[in-house]
Amino acid sequence: MFVNPYQNAVIGIEHGLKANFHTHAGTGKGTCGHNEIHEVLEAYKDAGYKVLTISNHDLLTNTEEYERKYDIVLLNGYEYSKNPHMLCINCNEVCTGNHQEAIDSCINQGGFVILCHPNWIHKEYWPWKAIDTIRGFAGIEIYNHLIYRLEGSGLATDTWDYILSNGRLAWGFGSDDFHHWHDLGRAWNVILSTSCSHSDVQSAILSGRFYVSTGLLLNEFIFENNIIYISAQFKNSYIKDYQYRFIGQNGNLLDQQFGNRGVYRLQGNEKYVRVEVIAENGTRLWTQPVYNKDCFQRP
Ligand SMILES: [Zn+2]
Ligand SMILES: [Zn+2]
Repeated sequence: MFVNPYQNAVIGIEHGLKANFHTHAGTGKGTCGHNEIHEVLEAYKDAGYKVLTISNHDLLTNTEEYERKYDIVLLNGYEYSKNPHMLCINCNEVCTGNHQEAIDSCINQGGFVILCHPNWIHKEYWPWKAIDTIRGFAGIEIYNHLIYRLEGSGLATDTWDYILSNGRLAWGFGSDDFHHWHDLGRAWNVILSTSCSHSDVQSAILSGRFYVSTGLLLNEFIFENNIIYISAQFKNSYIKDYQYRFIGQNGNLLDQQFGNRGVYRLQGNEKYVRVEVIAENGTRLWTQPVYNKDCFQRP
């Protein structure tokens, strides 16, 4: 029995809340968050964002006072910064314990956890064996823009496919990891939430009702009679050539198609199928997987 995480979502290029959960700001000169919070919020708002977390290193930034002023959903959080890093979102307290304690603490406070930049510095900055031993995380950063300026790789779909192939249902997230102005608006999540309430945003996240983008919007995602129909779009532009890549267990490319729509009929033996779209102008989109629920558990 396959599950489509977008089954109850309203999909279309006008729908969804643009979100970044990895933003350093407001911690003063010479630090990662050297830009002022109000300037950063204003810039994200200008760029069309509807959901943001200021996630400083081991420091919770209470953004409640800014929420009404900027009319943007602000989830409190921090970046747990013992190596390897994690984003603890929608919580109100920093945990100084080990990784598992920090995940448990964040969940107990009603929040969720994202493993950060899995390929920073080198492949497996987040060792796959370590991931196997922790429980309760919501997902991982499959794309972290900042790491493209540093060593290693900002792309971590290899880690994602490893986790998924082990039958653990982790969602893929995209982040700016904002430090400098030129980091803004590079990779984000589009949350297909029914409202802007904190609880609706979180429940959309936890059920995988969002996708990752570096510029593309999801126009259509239908899963019917074991067939996936997907189309993406770069705004309302003239661009018509897209590459649709259907990816399954161990990151295997099951099929790829070119044009303005991708269609994939599941054979029935897949554990999961996820779709990546690459537009002729280089912008990209990653969907969450359609998955066989008999093969999966939450991490
Ligand atoms: Zn980090
Ligand atoms: Zn960071």
